[in-house]
Amino acid sequence: MTLPDQQYAIVTRQVSKTFGGIKAVQGVDIAVAVGERRALIGPNGAGKSTLFNLITGEISIDEGQIHVLGRDATRFSVQRRARLGLGRTYQISQLFLELSVEQSLFLASAAGIGLGLSLLNGWRDRTEDRAWTREVAGQVGLADHLFRRVGELSHGLQRQLELGMAFAMRPRLVMLDEPAAGLSPAERQTLVALIQAMAPDITLILIEHDMDIVMQLAQRITVLHRGVVVTEGTPGEIQKNSMVQRIYLGEAHV
Ligand code: ADP
Ligand code: MG
Repeated sequence: MTLPDQQYAIVTRQVSKTFGGIKAVQGVDIAVAVGERRALIGPNGAGKSTLFNLITGEISIDEGQIHVLGRDATRFSVQRRARLGLGRTYQISQLFLELSVEQSLFLASAAGIGLGLSLLNGWRDRTEDRAWTREVAGQVGLADHLFRRVGELSHGLQRQLELGMAFAMRPRLVMLDEPAAGLSPAERQTLVALIQAMAPDITLILIEHDMDIVMQLAQRITVLHRGVVVTEGTPGEIQKNSMVQRIYLGEAHV
């Protein structure tokens, strides 16, 4: 697939990262088109989260280049990548447990990233921003929970709020690292439906172990193993790929 650079949300070229002798990611080339729904799969320790954090800027790169929405963002900070439109979820921290759902979404929309409670000063008067907050709450199934304290929400609703906090930043690209981990089957289905309902021009990069979820959400799948991209294809192609099956059975030596 070759498209003009601005039609890719993410392009990585020969991206590598070593942790004290462990080659977590080695020479990875991926290209994710704008609007594409891409899953990143592979066994534990394959390097998925490392690649993810290299793309978001959470960890520094050893070698290679990363383009985000047509810009060379290799040396950009997390904040600068976020301003380009790169959104990701953050686990709801202690900070949010005492706030309402509405306040949390408002903070995320106002701050993008680098959340600070001082941003809540005068928030009640910012009617336009509050309208956006309510719209996002509706998008993630929290319209009826706007005034509840985050700390009293179920685990599933908290995960929906995390997704909403990513959406609140008006991202062009959303990155999710195992969003369904720890959720019940019913909560998983709710989360999948909310992700499916995302605007079609928003790009998705998803790491997920639950293959049912991957098959429901992904248009293309990249398979990582020992820090290397072993194959990439449609869900149908990946499902019948014998090397992928061997990797998951733990008997592949690539
Ligand atoms: P995955 O998300 O696919 O399970 P990771 O990217 O978390 O894999 O890890 C890839 C490899 O890099 C593993 O061997 C892991 O132990 C190692 N690793 C990841 N993060 C660090 C770190 N901060 N320090 C040292 N080693 C790390
Ligand atoms: Mg991981």
